[in-house]
Parts: sequence; C-alpha cells; structure tokens
Amino acid sequence: MTVLVEAIGVTKHFPVKAGSLFRRTTLALRAVDDVALRIEAGETLGLVGESGCGKSTLGRLLIRLLEPSSGNIFFDGKDISDLAGKALRNQRRAMQIIFQDPFGALNPRMTVEDIIAEPRLIHGARADAATRQAVTQMLELVGLPERARDRYPHEFSGGQRQRIGIARALVLRPRFVVCDEPVSALDVSVQAQIVNLLQDLQAELGLTYLFIAHDLGVVKHISTRVAVMYLGKVVELAEKRALYTAPRHPYTQGLIAAVPVSHPLARQRRERITGDIPSALHPPSGCRFHTRCPYAMPICREQEPKTTQPVPGHQVACHLVGDG
Ligand code: SF4
Repeated sequence: MTVLVEAIGVTKHFPVKAGSLFRRTTLALRAVDDVALRIEAGETLGLVGESGCGKSTLGRLLIRLLEPSSGNIFFDGKDISDLAGKALRNQRRAMQIIFQDPFGALNPRMTVEDIIAEPRLIHGARADAATRQAVTQMLELVGLPERARDRYPHEFSGGQRQRIGIARALVLRPRFVVCDEPVSALDVSVQAQIVNLLQDLQAELGLTYLFIAHDLGVVKHISTRVAVMYLGKVVELAEKRALYTAPRHPYTQGLIAAVPVSHPLARQRRERITGDIPSALHPPSGCRFHTRCPYAMPICREQEPKTTQPVPGHQVACHLVGDG
C-alpha cells in the first residue's frame, strides 16, 4: 500500500491569555501533541475521541488549514509542512474537507450552483460552460436533481445540505478528504445514507478519507483502520476488526463499552469511562488518561507511555502493553 498522508511529530499549541489584567500570562492549549500517523491511499482512517481531544484540529493540520507548531506533514511523499502562498493553494486542490454542520458551512445567499462552483473559481477556472458542466456532474454524483442548482441552502433538508457540502468539497477532484463529523448533525435515519454515499464516492473517485467522529459506532461501518485520540495524543491505532474485537488501551475499551448494542448477550464486560476529559491547558502528567483510568499505576502518573506494537499494525500507548 502507498502512504498518501503522513504526520511525524505533529504538534499544535494555541496560545491562550489567562490571569488578571495586571498579571496576564500566556498558556499553551495543547490541542495536538507529537502525533505520528500514516494514511494509506484508498483507505478510510477513522479518528475518534471525545469532544476536545484534538481530532478536528489534527484533521485541519493534515490539510494545512492550520499551521503546525512543530512536526512535519507529508502528502504523497512531499513535505508540505512549510508550503505557503501559491504552492499551498495548488496543494489544497488535492486536499479538501467536509464539515459537520452543512448549514453553517454553506453561504445562505448563494445558489447551490454558485456554492459548488466557487472552489473552481477560486482556483482560477472561469464561470463558463466547463464549470457549469462540472456542477452538473457533481449534482449527479451526490444524488441531487439538476433543478437543485438554482435553489438556496435553506430550501433543502439536512441530508440534502450535506450532499451539497460534499459536492463542493469534491468539485476540485481532491485525492484526500477530511470528513469532520459529517453525519453528527443529521438524523439517525439520514446518517446511513450519507455514509453510504461517501463510500460510493470513494470507490468511484479513488478517494482517501480521514473520517472523524466522537463515537466508535459511527466509524465502524466506513473505516479500514481506526485511530483513537485522547487529549491531543493518538493512544491506539489498529485495523478496524482488531480494534473492535480486541482493544488494548483502557480508553478504547471504555469507548467501546459506551457503544449501544441491541442484544444484552452481545454486551461485553468492560469498564465504562467516568468523569470529564481534563483541560488541554493543564494536561495530566505521565499518561494523560491516568486521572480516569481504572488500571492506573504509580508509573502512569510519572512517565508518559511509549507507543508500542503488541502485534504488527496495532499501535498502543499504555504501560500495560508491551511490544510483541
Ligand atoms: Fe491506564 Fe496507565 Fe495505561 Fe495510562 S498507561 S492507560 S493510566 S494503565
């Protein structure tokens, strides 16, 4: 398999002002800390974790919508970490994002045609027959009728608006798409339709996805592999089947215990996670999960666990898990 996107030591700290007017200090909100991962061409890497764990920030870093504080990002073997200006704009054609809130992401004063055509115009295409044809193709691909082009976002349902958002993200024919919680704001009945559409488009257009969600139930269907994030760190990454059937990290085990299952016999005896995720302004020492981990040991408070591979392709950062 070819690696399309790679992050090495990627870190993003946001400066935050704190204290009184006279004793103002600047703290670092450690949204993403020293993350390394690879996304293979044609796969869907699911990225899960609670709100505030840094998963959306990581998605935006990978497509350079945010500047990393340190670390390197590679796309198709090329280091894109320091790209700027025209070179970055050109690179962006290959890397797009689908947002969580389709209504908030679409300009209410633009017609669907203008919304979908806009990325092409920003990248130098003309508002001509070719752009009109590109919009027609995208409407067809995402399952919207031709007559939708002259209408406005408020005239559509949530699922249809997300289809417009997907058409806009794909009109430049990117290779890599960050799907940032694309179904979280939709009714459960519509979620499966959008997930299926994304899968069909992946097969048809040869796309590679990073699919972000806050619960493991949503990413199970679509992902090839799944990465679990906690407080700015990737704590476990594995093939989907291995992660769901034999999770190694206590946090992943807790997330799986929280996924609703219909049959009582299918419920596994796993510890559920209690308490709230700590602030990324003051992450706990050692293993960041130690304040909520049912298996925490003294070493967990002092020493950050290294990422190990108990079996090939299964990465875990926990003192309980050693290399295989
Ligand atoms: Fe729990 Fe310690 Fe493993 Fe962290 S390193 S997940 S605190 S056992």
